[in-house]
Amino acid sequence: MASDETIHFPADYSAAREAFRQAAKAVGFQQSGHALAVRATDGSELSLDCAYYGAANPEAVLAVSSGIHGVEGFAGSAIQHRFLTHDFDAPRWPSHVGVLLVHAINPHGFANLRRVNESNVDLNRNFVAHPDGHEPNPGYEELHDVINPEDLEPETEEACSERIRAFARTHGRERMQEAFTRAQYRWPDGVQFGGTRLEESPSALTRIAAEQTRGAANVLWLDLHTGLGPPGQLELISEYAPDHAAFRRGRAWFGDQARSTLAGDSVSVPLSGVIERGLERALPDRALTPLTAEFGTHDSGRVFWAMRADNWLHHKGELDSDQGRAIQEELVEVFCPKDPAWRTSVVDQGSALLGTATKALASGQAAAFSLSRR
Ligand SMILES: [Zn+2]
Repeated sequence: MASDETIHFPADYSAAREAFRQAAKAVGFQQSGHALAVRATDGSELSLDCAYYGAANPEAVLAVSSGIHGVEGFAGSAIQHRFLTHDFDAPRWPSHVGVLLVHAINPHGFANLRRVNESNVDLNRNFVAHPDGHEPNPGYEELHDVINPEDLEPETEEACSERIRAFARTHGRERMQEAFTRAQYRWPDGVQFGGTRLEESPSALTRIAAEQTRGAANVLWLDLHTGLGPPGQLELISEYAPDHAAFRRGRAWFGDQARSTLAGDSVSVPLSGVIERGLERALPDRALTPLTAEFGTHDSGRVFWAMRADNWLHHKGELDSDQGRAIQEELVEVFCPKDPAWRTSVVDQGSALLGTATKALASGQAAAFSLSRR
């Protein structure tokens, strides 16, 4: 009988957190965490939960984080749960490698079914020096009123669609993707807001990264995401140029699945304020290989439209309404499709990814590549 991999997908954030902590405990991981100042709507704790297994001073650490984009934590949590409950085997774990799991970097977004945190900040655009590191996003500025409309009435939507089509005809698809996915630092109530200060979760994460990798020379950091790229397809996105040592390590370990945003063949355009920038600062003098593991879900237009409606709902709409519930349901669907085939495929690919990552760090390859850190 085929196994049902969809069992790893949690019903909600608190179920995900509970399952993560129980599974980590069952296989002997050391647990720690950072409870956020903000609480869940029901008053319960929201936390960045960590689990570590391995030596006190490992040569290499495999770090796997989930949920920096809140609602994307359904799939990230499922991959971590599958690893803990099916794949991790303590007696066979390589003794010089540590494994660190960080569950739900944005628990408030996860619990409230949003990508952003309680301050409407996209945490994966927040790792910049504020305000000096705020890059302009001219495409977004041009389309601001289209991306952040006053209402979602059919006439408004048709007019917005026409403006977007015109923008794409004039500037091309890449400029359009930049306008929609790069950070903006000007409108706190707008889509893709990168914040005005370092938020609590990114601050905690950089501290956790420095403390929990225990001085390892080699750190491979996989940050799990969904929503970009062809449905069900996994890409390992690197923010480094193809000749950078961090990208070359990724290529050597994962082959063509590793893509550089600076080479032009990635599903993502180059972004600023991403987790890689925070990890670099937290882990200087290491051979650090950060990769964004991105699983495609639905067509990019549908995904963007859902994010746009979600932002409108939280600032101008009525959460407790049929329309509000429909918008929230669609947001979950575009970041964690209900289709069991998609869910099984994501967990299976995640399992294979962590298997390959473990082998890469366990082999001499890591040591060889550590000679060229930059
Ligand atoms: Zn994401």
